[in-house]
Amino acid sequence: MKRDLYETLGVAKTADEKELKSAFRKLAMKYHPDKNPGDAESEKTFKEINQAYETLKDPQKRAAYDRYGHAAFEQGGMGAGAGMGGNAGGFSDIFEDIFGEMMGGGRQRRSAGGRERGADLRYNMEISLEEAYAGKTAQIRVPTSITCDVCTGTGAKPGTKPTTCATCQGSGRVRAAQGFFSIERTCPTCQGRGQTITDPCTKCHGHGRITEERSLSVNIPAGIEDGTRIRLSGEGEAGVRGGPAGDLYIFLSVKPHEFYQRDGADLYCSVPISMTTAALGGKFDVATLDGTKSRVTVPEGTQAGKQFRLKGKGMPVLRSSQVGDLYIQMQIETPQKLTKRQRELLKEFEDLSSKENNPESTGFFARMKDFFDTLSD
Ligand SMILES: [Zn+2]
Ligand SMILES: [Zn+2]
Repeated sequence: MKRDLYETLGVAKTADEKELKSAFRKLAMKYHPDKNPGDAESEKTFKEINQAYETLKDPQKRAAYDRYGHAAFEQGGMGAGAGMGGNAGGFSDIFEDIFGEMMGGGRQRRSAGGRERGADLRYNMEISLEEAYAGKTAQIRVPTSITCDVCTGTGAKPGTKPTTCATCQGSGRVRAAQGFFSIERTCPTCQGRGQTITDPCTKCHGHGRITEERSLSVNIPAGIEDGTRIRLSGEGEAGVRGGPAGDLYIFLSVKPHEFYQRDGADLYCSVPISMTTAALGGKFDVATLDGTKSRVTVPEGTQAGKQFRLKGKGMPVLRSSQVGDLYIQMQIETPQKLTKRQRELLKEFEDLSSKENNPESTGFFARMKDFFDTLSD
């Protein structure tokens, strides 16, 4: 039994586009295979989340799902791009009829001569934050069906021609009685093509397509965000018998970075400094994504949580000349494993300390005492 798609994403049936997207992103981050290496259960969940989102974000598919549930996507109708296989039993033809038309694929799939649009392909690409910063041209290899060069996609041996299907007289459809209904269904002899091949091409065995790996170069623009989908029109599977090719979708994810967390165009880096550096002041360098170093000056008496902004050291904004900022957040590391001598020095330091050295702490405990007094009055 397949899980309800809304349940999979943890959203209400009334969720709008934004809610769907946000729920998807949260779950996708959590179950991403990179974060759960070797965990088959997470991987399965990750796939389900992806499929649920793929369906629900498309208003047409969502409407179909709301009406017919998973049955809406069983067998045919939407092509391999939907990523939802399965067997719908005896009803598949009915659903194919309804949804084939509804999804705008019906006429196209069964047009004269059996032209069929190729399936959409999905390619998952993972890039580093540095690559997202600089942009890049990626070479990818995509296994895909391409038009057979021997028969130029007809499926018939060169010199021969496909013949009109005798079962359906070329219409690709046959009528059949099913209970009280008369149902028009895809011709079983020619699978709706309207033609049969008596002398199949030896290279593609009559399919008109062969599987090959293609090399494509994909332009990844600087500033691209995690979760972006790039559509390469016509780069999907070749169509059947001269039909139009499907599209190739690149699903892009940006790997988590060791030092930098991203929020839109801004980057955040949490830097632990020693207690003495925080108290006395100091300097340190951070390597920024533009390949340079930036020096950060820590003033005397820096508190934990203090943030320094390095202007223009964040991520570029997609298709713009704007650049975000880098925020350096201070963490203060309390010294551990003290030697006897260090302990003596700190004790001496404490004895010499005044209220002015720790105004926050002094003030807090004074107010806490007052509060206690009001309670016990
Ligand atoms: Zn061929
Ligand atoms: Zn036929």
